[in-house]
Amino acid sequence: MTDSEWESRCKHCGTCCFEKYENHTGTVYYTQTPCRYLDVVTRECRIYENRFTINPECIKLTPALVSKLHWLPRCCGYRTSAKSD
Ligand code: SF4
Ligand code: SF4
Repeated sequence: MTDSEWESRCKHCGTCCFEKYENHTGTVYYTQTPCRYLDVVTRECRIYENRFTINPECIKLTPALVSKLHWLPRCCGYRTSAKSD
């Protein structure tokens, strides 16, 4: 799978770009607070091409990582497409 094929699975919903926290039982809650670089109207990252340089907290989502992450929303295109692979 090429990078562009992989990235085409993202629905650009922006949900994962909101702050979240995990409680003592491991349940993840999303807050209403977006990443400072998220355009909340278009739901697009305003620094997408340079996001890992400008924002060290931004995580590159790869097939291997997505299969392990429990905090991505269920509706995330990377998660839903992984189930059909
Ligand atoms: S920097 Fe990362 S977390 Fe922030 S809006 Fe861009 S893609 Fe989302
Ligand atoms: S939650 Fe998934 S589909 Fe939505 S923007 Fe984040 S990576 Fe893309």
